[in-house]
Amino acid sequence: MKTALVAGAGGFVGGHLVKRLKAEGYWVRGVDIKRPEFGPTAADEFLLLDLREAGNCDWALARTEGTFDEVYQLAADMGGMGFIHSAECEVLRNNALINIHMTHASIVARVKRYLFSSSVCVYRDMSAGEPELSEGDAVPANPDNEYGWEKLYSERVAMAYGRRHGTVVRIARLQNCYGPEGTWEGGREKAPAAICRKVAEAEDGGAVEVWGDGRAVRSYTYVDDMIDGIFRLMQSDLEGPVNIGSDQYVSVDELVDTVAKVAGKRVHIRYVDGPVGVQSRNFSNDRIYSIGWKNRTSLAEGISRTYPWIAKQSTESSSRAGTE
Ligand code: NAD
Repeated sequence: MKTALVAGAGGFVGGHLVKRLKAEGYWVRGVDIKRPEFGPTAADEFLLLDLREAGNCDWALARTEGTFDEVYQLAADMGGMGFIHSAECEVLRNNALINIHMTHASIVARVKRYLFSSSVCVYRDMSAGEPELSEGDAVPANPDNEYGWEKLYSERVAMAYGRRHGTVVRIARLQNCYGPEGTWEGGREKAPAAICRKVAEAEDGGAVEVWGDGRAVRSYTYVDDMIDGIFRLMQSDLEGPVNIGSDQYVSVDELVDTVAKVAGKRVHIRYVDGPVGVQSRNFSNDRIYSIGWKNRTSLAEGISRTYPWIAKQSTESSSRAGTE
């Protein structure tokens, strides 16, 4: 039986990845600073550890039965644009510490394969209509935020350790990912979850607030597709960074329209000042396509699976608040 360690298993992508690895027949240890918020973990074993501490990373990787076949490093202090901008020092410090220690500990523990979850935030801002950026276009570097700079640095840490010590290292540059069991409130939620919540909480015919002018362009990848990309990349022989994301690009206005249609509500958009992030995105997925991965879920399909879950969370949270 193959063994995997998922760091960040208490989070959104990590929680879904654990389920996939279990379905593939792995023995899985999850590790996180917190337990999963929305239900029990599917992992065989779950350790609560702060991975900013080197000793805790050693502990996470320790097994009397031998070393892990695969380590998926997803732990990060992260959130949507609002969080990334307001907590830039914490993001830089916490994530660099986690990644330096996790990479080092994994190499010392002689794990066979190590995957680092990077982000398309490593790329510069783009203008609408610009041709696609490939992985190599991340340098010369000019990420829009500190979260992206840290990811770029930690990619290099992982690749250098892999080079020097002969460990197989895989670098996944994830697009925006969304789906059920993702953060949907509290300030760390990303745009799809925030818009689902706002639409769920709006009256039919009411207003939904959006940061900026609604024209910023993004693509959003449904979590099952993202997990499939991460898993396939780990098994592949693709060296160096690999973008994983949907090729369906939409504006924020279009995202709101999609959510409103799924919700069956008419809403109008109120534009307010806020940290929008980059203006446009357009990435090549050729490398991940080369190993047979393709995004399967359209935005409308993904939102139709995500919106009901967020609407239910929102209703339950309001009724809990009402009874307190
Ligand atoms: P998430 O916040 O849901 O999960 C991250 C997990 O890391 C959380 O459970 C958190 O508790 C844990 N963590 C934070 N600090 C820790 C510490 N000191 N010790 C141990 N655990 C700690 O985020 P996610 O959406 O699941 O993202 C997973 C990974 O994918 C992250 O590395 C993120 O940067 C990357 N990523 C995500 C997206 C996306 O859209 N979700 C896009 C690009 C990249």
